[in-house]
Amino acid sequence: MVVAIDGPSGVGKSTVSRAVAIALNLAYLDTGSTYRAATLAVLNADVDIGDGQAVLEVVRSLSIDYGTEGVLLDGVSVAQEVRTDRVTSKVSTVSAHPEVRAEIVAVQRAWVARHGGDAVVEGRDIGTVVFPDTRNKIYLTARQDVRAARRARDDEAREASVAEIAAALQARDEADSTRKASPLRPASDATIIDTSDIGIEQVVEAVLDTMKS
Ligand code: C5P
Repeated sequence: MVVAIDGPSGVGKSTVSRAVAIALNLAYLDTGSTYRAATLAVLNADVDIGDGQAVLEVVRSLSIDYGTEGVLLDGVSVAQEVRTDRVTSKVSTVSAHPEVRAEIVAVQRAWVARHGGDAVVEGRDIGTVVFPDTRNKIYLTARQDVRAARRARDDEAREASVAEIAAALQARDEADSTRKASPLRPASDATIIDTSDIGIEQVVEAVLDTMKS
């Protein structure tokens, strides 16, 4: 069973997805971290991130995996490095290349297959593209101001102001929603949950409720 949890940044996807995975005793895969790891590798290789073929070559030359210590690049955890602004500011450009997405989606599907086909998978296109046949599709949303405030709170060591964080968030959402390949949007059969005014526990409960029907 795959539980697909999609939505933009700052809606609480990771926290909710982890809690749902624990409640259902399923593996958990954060697909955003696979795009982030690819971006880190591409930046380190110093290739043109706008060149899809060059990016693809770098991505094909390495192994991306996901474990309890987060995302692994050639077997080494890069969980901390992939959260830096250097990576965050470039990940939408790298993930917009269709050929790169095809490669990374194959990695994600293989990961779920290795876990017996049972996992909570969070991302942007899980219900629409990666696992379109799953019955369990959730799309989390929240108001822009709430999402920016959450991101600012998460990033305690930040140097940027809340306004700067909000602008960066909006730019990334815009890029993710308007790209041609697998844009961020809810699947037609997804349950949409607005997390703006409810706590994490209530969101988790709402997600688990959708699976009872
Ligand atoms: O979820 P997170 O913020 O870590 O995702 C980082 C970026 O990876 C997103 O902004 C998006 O560009 C890309 N992404 C994607 N498809 C996914 C997950 C993430 O394109 N399924």
